Amino acid sequence: MTTQEYDTVEGDSTSHRAWTGDIVVVGAGTSGCYAAATAAREGYDVVVVERKSEQEAGHIACGDALKGADAFPEAIPKSQIQSAFTNTDVDHGRFEIPQEDTVLEIPVPGELAVIDRWEYGRLVIEGAEKAGAQFHYDTVVQDVEQDETGRVTGVRGKRHGDVVEYDADVVIDAAGALSILQDKADLDDATFDQNVSYSQFCSAYREVVHVDEPVEWDDALVFKPTDRAAGYLWYFPRTDTEINAGLGFQMNEEPMHLVEDLKNDLRDRPEFQGATVEDKLGAALPTRRPYDSAVAPGFMAVGDAAGHVNPTTGGGIAGAAYAGKYAAEQAVEAIETGDVGEAALWEYNERVMDHFGARYAGLDVYNIFTTAVDVDDLMGLLGALPTQKLSEALYSGSANIGWKLKLRTAVRSLGHFDLVYDLYRTKNLADDIIEHYERYPADPRGLPAWQETRDSLLDRVYETTGADPKY
Ligand SMILES: Cc1cc2nc3c(=O)[nH]c(=O)nc-3n(C[C@H](O)[C@H](O)[C@H](O)COP(=O)(O)OP(=O)(O)OC[C@H]3O[C@@H](n4cnc5c(N)ncnc54)[C@H](O)[C@@H]3O)c2cc1C
Repeated sequence: MTTQEYDTVEGDSTSHRAWTGDIVVVGAGTSGCYAAATAAREGYDVVVVERKSEQEAGHIACGDALKGADAFPEAIPKSQIQSAFTNTDVDHGRFEIPQEDTVLEIPVPGELAVIDRWEYGRLVIEGAEKAGAQFHYDTVVQDVEQDETGRVTGVRGKRHGDVVEYDADVVIDAAGALSILQDKADLDDATFDQNVSYSQFCSAYREVVHVDEPVEWDDALVFKPTDRAAGYLWYFPRTDTEINAGLGFQMNEEPMHLVEDLKNDLRDRPEFQGATVEDKLGAALPTRRPYDSAVAPGFMAVGDAAGHVNPTTGGGIAGAAYAGKYAAEQAVEAIETGDVGEAALWEYNERVMDHFGARYAGLDVYNIFTTAVDVDDLMGLLGALPTQKLSEALYSGSANIGWKLKLRTAVRSLGHFDLVYDLYRTKNLADDIIEHYERYPADPRGLPAWQETRDSLLDRVYETTGADPKY
């Protein structure tokens, strides 16, 4: 049993507990555990506050695919989570395009694994505990404490009806998509990105399904478009008989009946005849660019709570782990100087943009593009494009195509010329956006000018694609 160390505060009608330390992390997911482990390893007093029970913690709705499995931050090293990697033979994406009666086999760069997600969740918690972080379960954070200057000084929550107060130099919001902390905190005077709306999220649902006969595609992540361009179905093999099956749609689209639509697709696939469902979960995930700034005085957001997800694949585990590490390292540096203001925390934003934020902002441009095109046209075009280049575009946000390949692609894409031209122009704009993110300001004072240029680049994206503005 994990320790729950508090001071009890007397003289209140309800029982009232308080915790004081260096860093409070809200949320025991990937980003929270990596943040906590990073700071605790350096000897800082860190608590992770989690609304779920100790038994349920780590149980997260996910597709279970882990990209970049070879290069996880050292605070909880790969050796400590590896036993949750149930399928390390996956090495490519299998894109089923029923409209074109085509299957594309697209290589995925870097190390890939499908994992037992709950077991992985327990292992990252164990890793952060081993590093010295405390965990307070069954505690729902409901409010954010701020001083008269606006600096965040802690959070307040409830545990079994008791009020619990946390007071710390830095609060790290790792509470996942649509975090309540950002609704409660008054961040109007900070650079912290508040241009966040439901239309920048995807609603997703997944089941873990057991089949009796091994599937043939146990070395692939299977993707299939839903009837609309803004959604896709996936089948990720945890083993050759245990499949994570799910789907999602962009929340600015007409809602899909997720459970029903998944059931229909499973029913049509012979390999799922007689299958049994072992687990069901749904959740929202950000499919947007990373927050322009994820810091405010005394406050940092990481992982899903800061839009750190690849907006075209929905993969967020690796970004969450690194965001946790970068945030904690910066928090520790700021605490050491006695100044936890925005400028002192800023380098965290820079490291995120440098590592994956620029790339995700580029990929977001393709996301915007797909909301404005007809799904059948798009699938027709995808079937005609060179798969290696598609792979590069999917993961790096850009791809360079030589003239010979361009010519061959042009011949195969006959009938999709308008779309090819739009895609070409969109690609150039995505490249411009990535380049602009590479010039992310080194100081909070540079943010407004940088945002202004970025917004004018995005206006050109909306103009070119005909998509509704997303931000
Ligand atoms: C259906 C689905 C499929 C996905 N598939 C993949 C995939 O295949 N591969 C991949 O890499 N990514 C995938 N993702 C994304 C990935 O799961 C997330 O990006 C990642 O889990 C983010 O980690 P996090 O730590 O930021 O947040 P989370 O893992 O969401 O953790 C947040 C934690 O905060 C706790 N919490 C929330 N509010 C409070 C509160 N008020 N008080 C206390 N605790 C609170 C929650 O209980 C939770 O434990 C998928 C997401 C979904 C929804």
